[in-house]
Amino acid sequence: MTHCKYCNLPIDFDDEHTSRSGKRIPLDADTRQPHDCIARPRPRKKTTECHNCRQEIFFSPDRRNPATGKLIPQDIFGNHKCISRLENW
Ligand SMILES: [Zn+2]
Ligand SMILES: [Zn+2]
Repeated sequence: MTHCKYCNLPIDFDDEHTSRSGKRIPLDADTRQPHDCIARPRPRKKTTECHNCRQEIFFSPDRRNPATGKLIPQDIFGNHKCISRLENW
């Protein structure tokens, strides 16, 4: 018996329940319904606040400064062009 690594409930797999990409999806072991995990972390855009201009910003793992490898702060327009950027970043 497999247990969900997130909520620890018993889960099962079978060949009739596959995702669009062909992967077998976890099922609740007792109901045979797709396991809708309550504990699984869902990808969610984490926003934060620029500590200089207070604008809402977020970080995207594929937006890095190629020179430093550091994440580049993003806002809804793209790379965050902070009005106070000369002080930091
Ligand atoms: Zn689960
Ligand atoms: Zn800013």
